[in-house]
Amino acid sequence: MTKEFKMNKFQSEIEKDSYICTHYGENPEDYHGAVVPPIYESSLHVFKNYETFLEAQKDEQNNYLYWRGTNPTVEIAERKLAALERGDSCKCFTSGMAAISAAILTLIRSGDHILTVGNVYGTSLKIMDYLKRKWEVEHTAIVEPSMEKIEAAIQINTKVILLESPTTMTFKLINIQEVVSLAKKHGIKTIMDNTWATPLFQKPLLMGIDVVVHSAAKYLSGHSDILAGAVISDQNTIRQLFDNEFTLFGGALAPHEAWLLIRGLRTLPIRMGQHQESGLKVSEFLSKHPAVKKVNHPGLSTSKDFQLGKEQLTGYTGTFSFELKNGSFENIQKCLNRLEIFQIGYSFGSYESLVLSENNGKNMDKLQIHGIDPGLIRLSIGLESAELLIQDLEQALAELD
Ligand SMILES: *Cc1c(COP(=O)(O)O)cnc(C)c1O
Repeated sequence: MTKEFKMNKFQSEIEKDSYICTHYGENPEDYHGAVVPPIYESSLHVFKNYETFLEAQKDEQNNYLYWRGTNPTVEIAERKLAALERGDSCKCFTSGMAAISAAILTLIRSGDHILTVGNVYGTSLKIMDYLKRKWEVEHTAIVEPSMEKIEAAIQINTKVILLESPTTMTFKLINIQEVVSLAKKHGIKTIMDNTWATPLFQKPLLMGIDVVVHSAAKYLSGHSDILAGAVISDQNTIRQLFDNEFTLFGGALAPHEAWLLIRGLRTLPIRMGQHQESGLKVSEFLSKHPAVKKVNHPGLSTSKDFQLGKEQLTGYTGTFSFELKNGSFENIQKCLNRLEIFQIGYSFGSYESLVLSENNGKNMDKLQIHGIDPGLIRLSIGLESAELLIQDLEQALAELD
């Protein structure tokens, strides 16, 4: 029972998205007029007689029986995410990794081959090692992709291409349309991790991607107070996923986390606008700083991805990286320790500014494999004032060797 939105009411996609974030998928009439939907903190739903119970059992995906399958609060978040991505259907998971592993397992079986294109999230890569060890699934990583390299890596048993754009840590854009057309030509399914851009700034399904996955712990929720994941795709794929990897492995999102995700989504458009603006200001400051060799931000007009960005993104978030001219471990250490507003930690996409490096002084060969410069530092620009963040970076970068 959701108020359906009429497409013709919206003058633009931005208007439509902000309506989805604020109201879509909710129906106050169902909750006694409460403007905020309740947290249905109930592990099961009961039935007035055995006949209705048996009827509901026939289609667990579309009935409320037990929280491992469906929950009314979680469904509000799922409806919003499906609508934002312009997909048919969504399932929410306890974490991004639960969502990503379920999406991959839905599309492969033992003996298949997976291609990863560009730098992908470290733990997603570890899934590839796991699948190889336990299920003889082959994997090829193409860190610096070109269409020729991707095509050459395609095997008869290639079933899935997994990608992120921009890439993890290095923030390079992948030409999504080119990857999609290559995948379609060879009958390969594509999974795209859209955590960085959020559906507000990038809509992979509209570009032909088959499955979108998210860690909702980042921008989507935006307050560093939950872990959640999502898979969005067509009815058929989500039905497969629901019956197998979702229900059997038991990674259903809890209603309280879903409620916090819904709350976070309400402010997504204004938060993203702010992250974008401050992110560009800080990256422009860094690109002129004498201690900085390079800024990896696809929204800078000097970026080689600037043109492609205009074609496939409608905005830029506040997460990007830069490279120190002298990328010694000592310099990284000094810079990170001197920062006062930026805090050291994993994750990104929330109200607080964060800084991260992958250089631990002992892993140069690993960094090289992933195409990561030893002097690379990732920033997540939070909701503090950009001027304050620039001051913080200025004092941290002063007099570096
Ligand atoms: C955080 C993240 C994940 C993993 O999600 P969790 O919610 O931490 O399990 C996957 N992909 C990307 C791009 C991420 O940033």
